[in-house]
Amino acid sequence: MTTGAPRDALPSVGVDGPAAEHWYARLGVPTLVNAAGRWTRLGGSVMAPEVLDAMLDASHHYVDMFTLRERVGRRVAELTRNEAACVTPGAAAGVVLSLLACRTGADPACVVQVGEGRACPAEVVVYRAQVGPYRPGIVLAGAIPVEIGNRQETHAADFEAAINDRTSAVLYVAGATRRDGALSLDETIALAHGRGVPVVVDAADQLPPVSNLWRFTCELGADLAVFSGGKDLGGPQASGLVVGARPLVDAINLHASPNERIGRPFKVGKEEMVGLVAALERYVSLDEAGRRARWDYVLSRWEAQLSSLPDILMRREPTGSAGQLVPRLVLWREPAWSDRAVERIVERLLRGDPPVAVGWSGRHALALTPEMVSDDEVGVVAHQLHEMLLQLEFDE
Ligand SMILES: *Cc1c(COP(=O)(O)O)cnc(C)c1O
Repeated sequence: MTTGAPRDALPSVGVDGPAAEHWYARLGVPTLVNAAGRWTRLGGSVMAPEVLDAMLDASHHYVDMFTLRERVGRRVAELTRNEAACVTPGAAAGVVLSLLACRTGADPACVVQVGEGRACPAEVVVYRAQVGPYRPGIVLAGAIPVEIGNRQETHAADFEAAINDRTSAVLYVAGATRRDGALSLDETIALAHGRGVPVVVDAADQLPPVSNLWRFTCELGADLAVFSGGKDLGGPQASGLVVGARPLVDAINLHASPNERIGRPFKVGKEEMVGLVAALERYVSLDEAGRRARWDYVLSRWEAQLSSLPDILMRREPTGSAGQLVPRLVLWREPAWSDRAVERIVERLLRGDPPVAVGWSGRHALALTPEMVSDDEVGVVAHQLHEMLLQLEFDE
């Protein structure tokens, strides 16, 4: 920090007293204990002090945004061991910009054409088993989604048949829990490259492990990989990064802000750029084994505190809901809860005091994630859940 201002000194907007110290309270928004996950709708992640310091520092000065973007890209590439990189306002925006880059390459004339809606139609091939909530990003990039296979399986022949001279990219949504029904990323890359088509990996939630920052691109050979800055990286919630091949990153930079082209609505502020660099610097030096030991410790405390509940069974899962390397505690009941019961428990915990967010696994089990829970909150999660489950027994 360059100013020496105390970090907790918030600007006053004409409200005095203790309420002015807490923006969420001033706005009437309860804060949550988050044992659910790094979900966008729960606020993504909270930033470490060094990330906040970096953003505050960045906010004090004017800079040339093209120069900043270039230097930040270089530093992000270095930290993620990639040839090139850029910062985006989230992974979803990163996917759109990546798909735009695949349509045009770094040809300025083509970039202008796309901005004016004059470019030829483009198609993006995706697995029906993976695409779900991410389909609109393809449409926003001006391309037609071509879905292949079904939820159970896709054959190489389906893939081959979908590729034609309008195909601009293949979009692959990474994650162990999204593999069923799709070809492997390895095979996808081999088939796509065999036809001269680039592969974009949506890896928004695929951290940890940190090595995924370079694995999809440098080791597996994908052309671009996209990550959220506001999930496990602990950067600004509205940030993301794209890493990979330099010509495609150059193309993203042609489309994107501060250029007045089609990517201009995806503006990244100087604070987010600098904050994301600080978050990455912190992230690549984190002790992964130490983090895992803490998570295991949190899970054992929950197991101990919940073990006296009647009819409740628990098991540890080594990975999170998208296959990322964060363990979870899965809880279910025998005899099983009804379909509605799990939903009701989740809703009631969110309306509790304090509100606690928990996740679920399938339709009949709850799932607790340790990462976002502070030491003080570990006992709160178990207590609220314990009370709720006893109450539920009583109600039924
Ligand atoms: C979270 C997520 C996104 C969106 O990321 P943002 O950074 O919130 O834009 C996209 N794809 C997947 C698979 C995600 O998990």
